[in-house]
Amino acid sequence: MSADQRPLIVGAGPVGLAAALFLQREGLRPRIVETRTEPAPQSKALAVNPRVLDLLEPTGVTARMLELGSPVRGMQFHRNGKIVVGLKLDGIHSKYPFMLGLSQATTERLLAQAFLAAGGEIERGVEMTSCQNNVGGVAVELKHNADGSPESVESPWLLAADGARSVARKQLGVDFNGSTFPGEWYLADAPLKTTLSPEFAHIVFCRDGGFLFIMPVFGDEEFQSTNGLLWRVLGNRSNPLAQLEEAEPAGPAVWESSFHVSHRINAALSVGNVYFAGDAAHIHSPMGARGMNLGVEDAWVFANLVRTGRLGEYNALRHPVDQRVVREVEFFSKLIASDAPQFRFARRYVLPVVARTPLQARIKRTVTGLDHALPLGLEPSDVAAIAAQTSRPQMAL
Ligand SMILES: Cc1cc2nc3c(=O)[nH]c(=O)nc-3n(C[C@H](O)[C@H](O)[C@H](O)COP(=O)(O)OP(=O)(O)OC[C@H]3O[C@@H](n4cnc5c(N)ncnc54)[C@H](O)[C@@H]3O)c2cc1C
Repeated sequence: MSADQRPLIVGAGPVGLAAALFLQREGLRPRIVETRTEPAPQSKALAVNPRVLDLLEPTGVTARMLELGSPVRGMQFHRNGKIVVGLKLDGIHSKYPFMLGLSQATTERLLAQAFLAAGGEIERGVEMTSCQNNVGGVAVELKHNADGSPESVESPWLLAADGARSVARKQLGVDFNGSTFPGEWYLADAPLKTTLSPEFAHIVFCRDGGFLFIMPVFGDEEFQSTNGLLWRVLGNRSNPLAQLEEAEPAGPAVWESSFHVSHRINAALSVGNVYFAGDAAHIHSPMGARGMNLGVEDAWVFANLVRTGRLGEYNALRHPVDQRVVREVEFFSKLIASDAPQFRFARRYVLPVVARTPLQARIKRTVTGLDHALPLGLEPSDVAAIAAQTSRPQMAL
């Protein structure tokens, strides 16, 4: 065994990076290993929610995000070429009454830069191949991919931020309970010629019963197209660009992908000294804009529990919160996309009047991450104050 007894984070996606940054700022010097030799270039998560802007504010990352991103002030739902309902986020948060449009790749770059500036190091090309709890810690096997050399590490605890196919989850035999939607969803990032407002995310109900989610992509230079603003077009029919009625491509897609939509959560978010955060702990459709955001919040709660010596509370504090979010996002995703008669009915007759129902507030709170309080007692006091404020979200609306 190596004599290195530093805590270990596996995975340098947004969640592992956020955890590493929060912990580094507490003087903990975590070790973070990542299989990939280069950061992932895809836009993926397109929005940072107000909750995460609050949590990252003391690190200086929020200020950089605000410089590079652009506020998305609400959602517009379209049918037959008309806006049938518009939801604005005005008043949802005193400082950030919007979702900040910013590509995940840019978010990851800013988190990584802040972590490095705080004295951290990201060990790229290093893969965790196994982990097992033992007395007082975790025994971990790493592989250095450049030369295939193995390394055995003894760590006081391990944070598994290793994504949806988590090796740690499989190693420890943790059930990943939930279900998968039938069929695939498809996405394309492409420049569009459109009159759609870039200040809103758009959900279009198509004539064939499918839907499109359309939102601009903001961020670093690689997300700026010479053919105009880059947009994400996502839907549950293949070739989403061909379904567009309110817009037309102004150039070729820069990224196309398809994926299965699942709503799942680990049976436990901690097993012995191994803790799970982000997609390693829960996955759900992108419709609630929660995947990355919820994971960053996991990382913040985790880091604060480490700091206050309360790690044993992690599962009890996070599992109910994460489970409720997964269920809520599943509900909204069905509301937008399901072929079941009750959801088709709700789309046609309830959504157009949603602004006059409590469902409006529910949608806004879920999307912005302000649907639950942060655990009280985790300093700094300004975040505790935010928690107290957001524990009464109905009043904020
Ligand atoms: C198309 C799409 C759109 C999305 N839109 C949104 C959105 O609008 N809003 C939102 O909040 N979320 C969105 N998401 C979800 C978001 O991308 C994920 O929730 C987010 O990436 C999760 O971050 P993570 O750090 O937990 O996992 P990941 O980003 O998957 O990072 C895990 C990292 O661990 C590394 N790794 C894995 N196994 C090992 C190992 N054994 N050893 C070492 N390293 C390992 C991987 O290489 C990877 O870098 C979207 C996702 C997709 C695909």
